[in-house]
Amino acid sequence: QVHRAYNFNAGPSALPLPVLQKAQEELVDFRGSGMSVMELSHRSALYEEVHNEAISLLKELYGIPEEYHVLFLQGGASLQFSMVPMNFLPADKKAGYVMTGAWAEKALAEAKLIGEVFEAASTKEEAYRRIPQFDELKYEAGTAYLHLTSNNTIYGTQWTDFPDTGDVPLIADMSSDILCKPVDVSKFALIYAGAQKNLGPSGVTVVILRPDMLERASKNLPTMLRYATHVKNNSLYNTPPTFGIYMLGEVLKWVKTMGGTRELERLNREKANLIYDAIDNSNGFYRGHAEPGSRSLMNITFRLQSEELEKKFLADAKKEGFVGLNGHRSVGGCRASAYNAVPREACQALRDFMIRFQTENA
Ligand code: PMP
Repeated sequence: QVHRAYNFNAGPSALPLPVLQKAQEELVDFRGSGMSVMELSHRSALYEEVHNEAISLLKELYGIPEEYHVLFLQGGASLQFSMVPMNFLPADKKAGYVMTGAWAEKALAEAKLIGEVFEAASTKEEAYRRIPQFDELKYEAGTAYLHLTSNNTIYGTQWTDFPDTGDVPLIADMSSDILCKPVDVSKFALIYAGAQKNLGPSGVTVVILRPDMLERASKNLPTMLRYATHVKNNSLYNTPPTFGIYMLGEVLKWVKTMGGTRELERLNREKANLIYDAIDNSNGFYRGHAEPGSRSLMNITFRLQSEELEKKFLADAKKEGFVGLNGHRSVGGCRASAYNAVPREACQALRDFMIRFQTENA
């Protein structure tokens, strides 16, 4: 029996054990090559197989329309905060940002460096406890695109459905909830996500792009910052993060064996509810940060009655083998990140611990 922590890290975060074990098994001699994946040329047929398989599996599992491009880039979701406006925010237009948390703020700040932006909606005044309703979204004439963050990793809120934006391209940062449930990808002009939560190790950033977007993209950009470069070269313009892409492919195979996104959603709901129920049935001992209608399946945020008690909660949890339950350093409190690869047993164990801790400390 391998020792595995109850890993509730916000990212990088838990990976499926079978994926780690397979990677271990294949590490020094990948498919009879006498080399590890990391040692293969990115121009070799063997690597290309890994690369293309990951692309087609993601398309299949996420229901990505055939004509869409799937790219594997570097620089994290943070570089996408810049690449999106660089490519798609021309001087005569404005980009709308839906402000639902700290990552949306960062995305907006980067876009501001490139061009004109406006807040299409914001719940900042309400401590980002909720996702705005569709009728709160404002569009301005000549909106270049509307940007939203599908899951707010720090505040623990998540969109349940997405607005129809008509001719305005909808762009989403799905870093912390991609593949946690089925999504109608055809609503989006561009989706991006750092891999290190639901998709694999850090170092790869997935971009899903509707092809017509390339026609409106700026041509006056450095080669590496143009989506067109990576589309044209199947994300092999330069050396891609080959090991990360291999791991991503293995995580996708695991998602398939788990029954795909529909089954993962069912499981994720069950997992999150184990913890939300412990909060809701605690008579106010634990207080959820997000409004119930906006609660995230991935990041469960809560507070205790005092910072002192929170400190004790985190210290006791640590002793019992729980990792990563502290809230983001910017907001404090507690957060359990129950991404796809976090097993149900870990959530059950956390729930049991929360109930026990309450009994002992109420
Ligand atoms: N967006 C969201 C929603 C995130 O959760 C994160 C990372 N936690 C980022 C962007 C930044 O991602 P990266 O570190 O890959 O740049």
